Amino acid sequence: MSSIIKSVKSWFASPATETPGAGTSTQIITRDQHSISRKDISDNALKVLYRLSNAGYESFLVGGGVRDILLGLHPKDFDIATNATPEQIKELFRNCRIIGRRFRLAHILFGRDVIEVATFRAHCDDNIQQAKEGMILRDNVYGDIEEDAIRRDFTINALYYNIKDFSVHDFCDGLADLRKRQLRMIGDPETRYREDPVRMLRAVRLACKLNLTIEPNTLKPVAELSHFLEQVPAARLWEEYRKLFLAGAAKLTFQKLREYGLFHALFPATDRALKHDDETQTQAIEQLVLDALENTDTRIASEQTVNPAFLMAVMLWQPLLESTEALQQKGNNFNDAFFKSMARVLNAQNQHISIPRRYALVIRDIWSMQLRLPAYHGKKAWSIFEHPRFRAAYDFLLLRSQSDPRQKELADWWTKFQEADASDRRQMLQKTGSGKKRKRRKPRNQKRQPANKNKH
Ligand code: ATP
Ligand code: MG
Repeated sequence: MSSIIKSVKSWFASPATETPGAGTSTQIITRDQHSISRKDISDNALKVLYRLSNAGYESFLVGGGVRDILLGLHPKDFDIATNATPEQIKELFRNCRIIGRRFRLAHILFGRDVIEVATFRAHCDDNIQQAKEGMILRDNVYGDIEEDAIRRDFTINALYYNIKDFSVHDFCDGLADLRKRQLRMIGDPETRYREDPVRMLRAVRLACKLNLTIEPNTLKPVAELSHFLEQVPAARLWEEYRKLFLAGAAKLTFQKLREYGLFHALFPATDRALKHDDETQTQAIEQLVLDALENTDTRIASEQTVNPAFLMAVMLWQPLLESTEALQQKGNNFNDAFFKSMARVLNAQNQHISIPRRYALVIRDIWSMQLRLPAYHGKKAWSIFEHPRFRAAYDFLLLRSQSDPRQKELADWWTKFQEADASDRRQMLQKTGSGKKRKRRKPRNQKRQPANKNKH
């Protein structure tokens, strides 16, 4: 931490060069006055930066890459900004794909590593298409670097590292904000949130992930504008959901999203369940969610994999149980009510965050396995244990048992079963019924048909 502070302070040790006529706050910080070294930048990003520059284009590292290096962190991706158009970029790189409808961007592909290259864009009122409420629908207007800087979201995201002379260009006082560890919106916060409500989520995400405070004027309009998130396409919010909750600070992010009134826009059913009249129940739900978020953060910290479906299954568990109960009261049996509710709850959530099909299938499996896990008697235990989603379902049960003592015995049984060797497992199963491993007569999908039948 101290080295970060030192490096941030050192930018101000000697005065930066003012560029005349380029706006009052434009500063160019030469290579000896900042802490970015080419060693901090991935080889692929450097390759792209140099090729653009050698072809005569302006070529800058920008956004999270510059910000994170200055904070002493290791950026997970590198974004590049240039005055070359997507077509000109494509001419330079065989491994280039042009993507995006709203913003046309070039992706340079190096196996699984993708370097995003964006042409400088202007924020031009005459050319952008805006909805009545001020939301930008299309804004593909090219501009110069300074125009590109001011259409970015936060000042600390508008720092440009020039590969030509290794200087940092700061158009919006981003370095000063970085030194104060504060997140400040460029321009009028309310207007900028109306243009793109996702910026509210980005503010919370970056503040939590990078341990920054949100500057008061940047924070002020958030609670009032939270409903604008309803206009954001649900598919875009899936990507944001992943970034919010799978970046290592999920627990804090969840708490802040709730505090600022944004959680409701993402998970309305969960939010309602968290505001239940019955306080004991509310506490149990909250604990389940918090435990899951904490587990997720711990797993990320130790570089273990995390599946976005698992957390989604947790978030929607209580709404699923409540819907099941409501359908039971209308005369459905428990199983019918449960499976119908799975579809209902997922459909309702899809209106807000669109869950890709392959993840929805995982969520369904984790949930339906919760009904099968208690039936561990004898040979049934093997088929549960061999299910491809057993591990996720068991983790889910374990989590439930932390906030619901009634699940503890069951969770303990499965923990013991997994830890046991073959002979101990046989003994455990003999106690509960037949210990023989069942021979499968029918393929699994036929066996599971009764459950599927009820899904729609
Ligand atoms: P991360 O560490 O999550 O990648 P990031 O700030 O780099 O953080 P990206 O989504 O990679 O986030 O975006 C790259 C840059 O593009 C940002 O730093 C910012 O300058 C700009 N940007 C991204 N989203 C927006 C937005 N909604 N409005 C304005 N500028 C944006
Ligand atoms: Mg980035």
